[in-house]
Amino acid sequence: MGCWVDLHTHSTASDGSLTPRELVRLAKERGLAAIALTDHDTVDGLPEAMAAGAEFGLEVIPGVEISARHLLGSMHILGYFLDYTSPRLAERLAVLKQARKERNPRIVAKLNALGIPLTLAQVEAVAGGGQVGRPHIARALLVGGYVRDLQEAFDIYLGNQGKAYVSKFRFPPEEALAMIREAGGIPVLAHPFTLNLHTLPDLRRLLQELQPLGLAGVECYYPEHSPEQEALYLRAARDAGLLVTGGSDFHGDNKPEVSLGRVSCQDRLTCELVGALKAWRRRALEDLQRA
Ligand code: AMP
Ligand code: FE
Ligand code: FE
Ligand code: ZN
Repeated sequence: MGCWVDLHTHSTASDGSLTPRELVRLAKERGLAAIALTDHDTVDGLPEAMAAGAEFGLEVIPGVEISARHLLGSMHILGYFLDYTSPRLAERLAVLKQARKERNPRIVAKLNALGIPLTLAQVEAVAGGGQVGRPHIARALLVGGYVRDLQEAFDIYLGNQGKAYVSKFRFPPEEALAMIREAGGIPVLAHPFTLNLHTLPDLRRLLQELQPLGLAGVECYYPEHSPEQEALYLRAARDAGLLVTGGSDFHGDNKPEVSLGRVSCQDRLTCELVGALKAWRRRALEDLQRA
């Protein structure tokens, strides 16, 4: 009997379509032993997810996914086992929440200028109370009949090259890493393929930049990584002495091609990954006590 996990999932607290409790229940149904809830720039879903873990008998690892600013491209940093009650963490997350709040109306205004009479209220209704992001705007565009599917919404309007794109404030990597470390979390570079690094030397350079800032691992197993990319990331992570993690980036209906517990790399998402994270954490605590 295998022991499977998923260390990258989203709930309605950010841009997933399942509530934290529904997500945990589905993970249990799909036979997973543990999941990490890693919502974008928020820990609001964690109390409910942890309670659901106890209710359904499955380990829930408190996590987060922070978007950082980097010249190479889209840099996301996952944080595992964080103290989500940390006031300092809440303070920094509030900055990001505010950045989103300022951005969403500007995207809607751009859409309006393009002749699409969408309102912020319609978008918020789609988000159902959680924090509003581009996937919700995409869904509102779909519901309004302005696009044929969610991908078209990103391709034409919301993606980085889209007509209604608006950039959003992001912390530099050192701040994203520090906010996770200071909350006792383990920072891991998410889905490195979004940074467009194709060679081992390039990847090494990036890891050498991030490791002194506190980076502890690399998300090598990810549904969108090709076998070649996966091998490259594993090699770079192991050479640097970094942890290896993986996850599906499950978003429910907001990313329909990803099915929880059934992704192409699921056979690599084993309980050993969680064991390694915990061992790292124990060592970090011991180092702290010695110091
Ligand atoms: P936001 O946090 O509001 O900037 O939205 C980011 C989320 O939108 C990502 O986590 C993805 O779920 C989704 N997303 C961003 N770019 C694209 C894209 N080009 N195609 C599809 N989904 C995207
Ligand atoms: Fe997302
Ligand atoms: Fe991400
Ligand atoms: Zn994600």
